[in-house]
Amino acid sequence: MKNKSVNFLTFDIEEWFHANYRDLNANDYSNISDTNLEANIDRLIAICDKNNVKSTCFILGDVARKKPHLIKKLFDAGHEIASHGNSHKQIYSMRQKEFTEDIHKSTDILEQITGQKVVGFRAPSWSIKDETVKWFYEILANEGYIYSSSVYPAEHKLFGIKDFDKTPHYPTNHKILEIPQSTTNIFGFETGYAGGAFLRIFPEWFIKYNIKKYNQRNLPVFLYLHPREIDTMEPKLKLNFIDSFFHYHNTGIKCEQKTSNLIKEFSNSFIKMGDFAIKYNQL
Ligand SMILES: [Zn+2]
Repeated sequence: MKNKSVNFLTFDIEEWFHANYRDLNANDYSNISDTNLEANIDRLIAICDKNNVKSTCFILGDVARKKPHLIKKLFDAGHEIASHGNSHKQIYSMRQKEFTEDIHKSTDILEQITGQKVVGFRAPSWSIKDETVKWFYEILANEGYIYSSSVYPAEHKLFGIKDFDKTPHYPTNHKILEIPQSTTNIFGFETGYAGGAFLRIFPEWFIKYNIKKYNQRNLPVFLYLHPREIDTMEPKLKLNFIDSFFHYHNTGIKCEQKTSNLIKEFSNSFIKMGDFAIKYNQL
C-alpha cells in the first residue's frame, strides 16, 4: 500500500523590512511600528481555517516581543510556534557566542508567550553554510531543539550548501533533524520551487508537479511564505533592480491566490514539523 504523502505548510513570521540583501540595512526601517502584519496574519489564518490545515510558524523574537498578541493568536488557532531567531541576522555572519545569545532570546520570549517548549528553528535567509554546520546543530541541541528547517541544499548567490542531502536527516551526531528545502533541476540548475520568490515566480502547475514528484519518492515538501508576500500595501524597501524583482515580483493577491490553491490541493497532507520530527526520532 502506498504511504500517505506528508508535507508541511510553513510561515516565516517577520515584518516587511526583515530581509537580508548585500546593500540593505534593515535597521534603517526597524523603528517603523505601523505595519500590516496583523492583517496579513489574519488572512493566512483564515486560509488555513478554510482548508482545515495547521501550519508551522517560524517567528522572529523581535516581532514576538513587540507584538506578543499575534503569536498568541497563531498559537490559539492551533499552529506550531517555532523560532526564526531573534534579530534576523544571518547565522554565518555570527560567531557561536552571538548565535547562542540570539537563539536564547527568541526561545525565551516565545516560550513565555505560549507556555510551551519551542522545538523547531529556521535560520534567517537559509544562512547555513558548510562551515557553520558543525556548531549550528550543537547550539540547537544545547538549547533543547529537536529539528531545524534551515538549509537550502544547492548553490545560490546568497546562501546554500551544494551536495547537501535533500532528505530529512541528522547532519551531525547531535540528533537535530534537518528538514531541508526541496529543490528541482531545471536545465542543469538546482533551484527551490515551493516558497518565497520561487513560489511567486514559477507557475502553479510546475510547483504542484514537483511536489507530487517528491511525494512519489516518499519525500515531504514544505511550502513557505512571509506575511508581506500577500500584501502590496506594505511600504517598500529600497533595493537594486534584481533584488527588487525577487523580493516583490507577483506579491499581493496573485501570491495569495496561488498559495490558497496549493494549500487546497495538498490540504490532506500537511502536518506540523514538530510532530514529524518527534515521529522521526522514534523510528
Ligand atoms: Zn526571515
